[in-house]
Amino acid sequence: MPINEVLSSALATGVLGLPLGLPQANLPKSAEIAIASPAKKGWLIYTVQPGDTLSAIAVRFGANTKAIMWASGISNDALHPGDTLRIPLADASQSTVRLPPGVQEYTVHAGDTVESVARRFYLTPLGLISANPSIASLDRLTEGSTLYIPTVEAGLLVQLQKGQTIKDLAARFGLPVMQIARANALKSPTEVGTGDFILLPGVQAKTTYNKLLDLQAAERKARQQEALRLAAEQKKQETARLAAEALRKQQQRRLEQQAAQAAQQQQSSSQSEVRRANYVVAAAGYRYPVNRFVITTYFGARGAYQRFHTGLDLAAPMGTPIYAARAGQVETAGWSPYGYGLNVILNHGGNVETLYGHMSRIVAQPGEYVQRGQLIGYVGSTGWSTGPHVHFEVRVNGVARNPLAYLP
Ligand SMILES: [Zn+2]
Repeated sequence: MPINEVLSSALATGVLGLPLGLPQANLPKSAEIAIASPAKKGWLIYTVQPGDTLSAIAVRFGANTKAIMWASGISNDALHPGDTLRIPLADASQSTVRLPPGVQEYTVHAGDTVESVARRFYLTPLGLISANPSIASLDRLTEGSTLYIPTVEAGLLVQLQKGQTIKDLAARFGLPVMQIARANALKSPTEVGTGDFILLPGVQAKTTYNKLLDLQAAERKARQQEALRLAAEQKKQETARLAAEALRKQQQRRLEQQAAQAAQQQQSSSQSEVRRANYVVAAAGYRYPVNRFVITTYFGARGAYQRFHTGLDLAAPMGTPIYAARAGQVETAGWSPYGYGLNVILNHGGNVETLYGHMSRIVAQPGEYVQRGQLIGYVGSTGWSTGPHVHFEVRVNGVARNPLAYLP
């Protein structure tokens, strides 16, 4: 099988990257064109097909088996379908092909793209593609491969296939034979043979170029999406890391707060013991004047008959016994002109007095000494009162104080 046919079938099956198809009949300019590989230096990327052997491939491509193994980095000749081989292209074939006048060769360097090479030689990317229609990617060129650079006239660069003539090409691309002959500096159409390069002036590989553009857009989009996906993944991991960090700090703060609270509690528990001790002292001095009651009006509240409530109202059933809140001497026991009704005032010494108002009956006698808890009267609703209760006051130096501050 001649090399051109192999390469063409490789192109047709997409082995070289882009299925270009073979022109079979007359085609308009810029139609889909497939030609043999113009790359005559460097290497060809070949994907191993089922049934391939290394020696058969070497024969097909006119290459040496050892050179293929060396270029492909393999150590034995066992091949597997899908393996990628690098087939060095023989320099021998290079010397025999004829290039049209003004077409130069350029060896691809690392980092070259169609655009950068085109710019270097003052060509459009389409112009460069037309001279090299087997290029598989606009962004990825094979380092070491050869590109053809038209410097005089732009056009499509093709290789003559076996049995093909200039007349055939003229008919296929709708060009006058003389125009092709002039562009290729041919005195006679028989000067060229199989494998020689022919420049078809003015013909552009637009379809190939557009396919490459689509492929480039797809590849760039895929790279962009991959970059976005990576960025999103990184952001997700960063968010998770920050959340973990925040949680760790929160736990740290909680531990510190707990430690601080424990220290504070230890400190304040000794303080509350002090307060409790004072409370016990106070409680030892006073008791509630009735055993079962409901506080209906607090000290300082706006009472039913007073702007400022000067005592504590303890509601209890009519006739409930009233006891002395603390030991003392009965100062007064009788009817109050101030609205307290039947009331008793006890003097506890130190200018401290307690008053018990609205009694239904008085038991204590004026001047009598009473013990803490001794019966002095019974709950009533005498005087300015709306229901049975004891109005209990504590006076220090004649000024009413909050009884709750003295009661247990
Ligand atoms: Zn009252």
